[in-house]
Amino acid sequence: MPDIATNIAVKLIQRESVTPEDGGCQNYMESLLAPLGFVRTHVDTGGITNSIYTRNGELPGRLAFAGHTDVVPTGPLEQWPHPPYAAVITDGILHGRGAQDMKGAIACWIAAVAALCSEYTPLPTLQLLITSDEEGDSIDGTIRIVEKMQLDNALPDGVIIGEPSCSDTVGDTIRRGRRGVVQIRATIHGKQGHSAYPQDSDNAIHRATAPLTKVSTINWGEPAAGFPATSCQITNISGGTGASNVIPGQCSAFIDIRYNPGNNFEQIKNIIDEIFKECHCTLAFDHTATAFSTPDGPFLDLVCASIERCTAIKTVRDTGGGTSDGRFFAAAGVAVAELGTTNSTIHQVGEQVAISEFASLTMIYADIIKNFEV
Ligand SMILES: [Zn+2]
Repeated sequence: MPDIATNIAVKLIQRESVTPEDGGCQNYMESLLAPLGFVRTHVDTGGITNSIYTRNGELPGRLAFAGHTDVVPTGPLEQWPHPPYAAVITDGILHGRGAQDMKGAIACWIAAVAALCSEYTPLPTLQLLITSDEEGDSIDGTIRIVEKMQLDNALPDGVIIGEPSCSDTVGDTIRRGRRGVVQIRATIHGKQGHSAYPQDSDNAIHRATAPLTKVSTINWGEPAAGFPATSCQITNISGGTGASNVIPGQCSAFIDIRYNPGNNFEQIKNIIDEIFKECHCTLAFDHTATAFSTPDGPFLDLVCASIERCTAIKTVRDTGGGTSDGRFFAAAGVAVAELGTTNSTIHQVGEQVAISEFASLTMIYADIIKNFEV
């Protein structure tokens, strides 16, 4: 007989929900949460299913759990050892899309709340903030939930995000911040012509080489404390017609920058503008995510203390990985800690999780909820 968290995780995985679909996951969650005293508010926007589930507390303070019910596509079905939405359990391993990212963590939070409610433990106000648009553009997802909460003056005092933060064991790593993202499309203009008549043309690829070399070797300075260095990668270059004897009239490049809070968008834009200023070129900047970091303080201390009480692990407070929905809460001034399962198979064919992780994560979540104070 599987435990409660495993049982919920199985039911969530069986509800197929590739972004932007929710697949009925949030209705299923409502059926579990309503008997525990939660009221659901729909914040659906632009075809995205967003829900705020609130249980008014006996104690002061608001603690939120944020997450997503959408998952990434399966990839080649024949490469999965078990069908991705069957949620098969073999030898203590739960197989399925979303097992780690992040239906497992949602299941553990609900199981933790259910256990505390069954013991009549006095609790702070609890909120579950769930979107079906995390793996996609994140345009109508968590940002809309945060806006609604700002409007209602209902922002939490702290939020646990159920992203799979851990490396080897549940509790070994939390994420307290993430780097920001700036993406740039550079289009370098020249003049097309016959390769035997270079005097009549202007080779756009030749023009692009010097600035792109500079882009690949920018010194971004010392990273902010606790953050990895800023990374600047040219991820795509295209130019030329395919014919060997045509001088290209245009060359375009895509630059992906992951910056730590030691850098900022304005500074990055100035550096890139300066590099390309001599080059006949059009630059399109997209600041897709802002860097954030929750400072050391009571909230992170509570999360780490709960992990240590439950597992004896001394947790690393990390800022690695891509961006996350944590940025929307951080921008609203909410303390953010990301804590979920391990992440060894996220977004991969054959995503899976050891169900022993659920017992551990449920225990940690319950400890955080019980000991949360403002
Ligand atoms: Zn995720």
